[in-house]
Amino acid sequence: MPEVKKLSDGIFEVIKDKKHLATKNLDPGKAVYGEKLIPVQETEYRTWDPRRSKLGAMVLKKFNISLKENSKVLYLGAASGTTVSHVSDIVSEGAVYAVEFAPRSMRDLIRLASRRKNIHPILADAGKPDSYSHLVEPVDLIFQDVAQPNQAEIAARNAIRFLKRDGYLLLSIKARSIDTAANPKEVFKAEVKKLEQAFEPGFEILNAKDLKPYHEDHLGVLAKLR
Ligand code: SAM
Repeated sequence: MPEVKKLSDGIFEVIKDKKHLATKNLDPGKAVYGEKLIPVQETEYRTWDPRRSKLGAMVLKKFNISLKENSKVLYLGAASGTTVSHVSDIVSEGAVYAVEFAPRSMRDLIRLASRRKNIHPILADAGKPDSYSHLVEPVDLIFQDVAQPNQAEIAARNAIRFLKRDGYLLLSIKARSIDTAANPKEVFKAEVKKLEQAFEPGFEILNAKDLKPYHEDHLGVLAKLR
């Protein structure tokens, strides 16, 4: 029988042959991106690959992502829904507003959302929150993985509009999407500063860590409104 250890609400370590990060499958019997399904008594777990998910890597890097089953999440840069699907497992009674601007990825996301009622796909530019403000309620967490040079600005615009006063921002910063030539450490320092000063009163940075060995030249950042 595989061994299961709870890491935080909705997030588990399942030991079967080796340790797997995992969430409880909200859609039993169905894998989303080729991940393993591991039944343990009445529950089915889905393995969560931290090399394919910045959020998964942040969990293993001990970021406090503080999600509950009824949390509301705004997810910017949803792609085809690999990580969105795990967030959907975690906030099983809540909602994930999944913003993505690539129509091709959106098709996969809509298919995923047809099986998971807590995912609300939104085809929009995350830099223009006005265009989807009628679709999103105040959220407990904004997760952003857009790999864009103006990501601090995108985070600020969305936080001002949608983040609850006591909510959190989790952000993945990809050094090469900002400056291909510069030293990633310098890029990270400048980006963290931009976040702190992106608006008045700005974000307070609670944690910032390199996502190695899961993702090269990526920084994970946890912040809240000051
Ligand atoms: N977070 C995804 C996951 O873990 O499954 C992977 C995200 S991928 C690194 C970045 C995604 O952000 C791409 O699908 C891209 O189309 C999307 N993106 C980039 N800029 C965006 C923007 N301004 N608005 C909406 N989506 C954007």
